[in-house]
Amino acid sequence: MIRNQRHRTFEEYLKNIEVVIWDVDETMYYDEKVIVKTRQAYVEMLEKRGFGNLTKKIKDDFDALESTGKKWYQILVEKLGVSEVEVIGLAEAGFDKSKLVKKNPRLVKMLSSGKRKNFVVSNSSRRSVFAILKKLGFVKPESFFEEVFSIENMGGLKPNERVLLGITERANVGPEKVLMVGDSLIDDIIPAKNIGLLTSHVRCKRSEGEADFCVKDLDELLDIFETIR
Ligand SMILES: [Mg+2]
Repeated sequence: MIRNQRHRTFEEYLKNIEVVIWDVDETMYYDEKVIVKTRQAYVEMLEKRGFGNLTKKIKDDFDALESTGKKWYQILVEKLGVSEVEVIGLAEAGFDKSKLVKKNPRLVKMLSSGKRKNFVVSNSSRRSVFAILKKLGFVKPESFFEEVFSIENMGGLKPNERVLLGITERANVGPEKVLMVGDSLIDDIIPAKNIGLLTSHVRCKRSEGEADFCVKDLDELLDIFETIR
């Protein structure tokens, strides 16, 4: 784990953490196939809804916009002129990510300890988030998480800082007692840092060392959580 110089140890800081906000995709589970198939769902949607058949030109346009850093849903919003929420909902209706998600008893056990309050925030549909949480082993997600925020009820999308600020206010604790756990520097880590939360970047690369704590994968984070008494 890479530790930001400003801090003593992650363990020390974790002891004071009362609230953890979790991203879902690529944070609570990781499967390359999910990423490939989700991308495919967006490309196919462009084909079905916008252009009848996917010509090479459209495919090239998608690739070009993607290479500028645009997210898949943003490309579709631009091409089809529909809302972000609608685009994400439609793509996820076309491919059920949860099918590829496996149980994670360690994660479930850690979140069941009752030591901290846990929230979920995902730029994903409620249907997809709940299906994934159930597959991970959170049989009744409502009983593990204070609240689950998806595109339908989060009042914007990450990286809008108001989303995370709203959750922190709801949790009714100071930002220094809140840890954001996510895999995306842009969507999870930077907005969390901007509002003063502690941040743990899952699967971060050295070049992305902006989070307070960088872990190579979820297991490394769980190792640390398990040492906290
Ligand atoms: Mg993610």
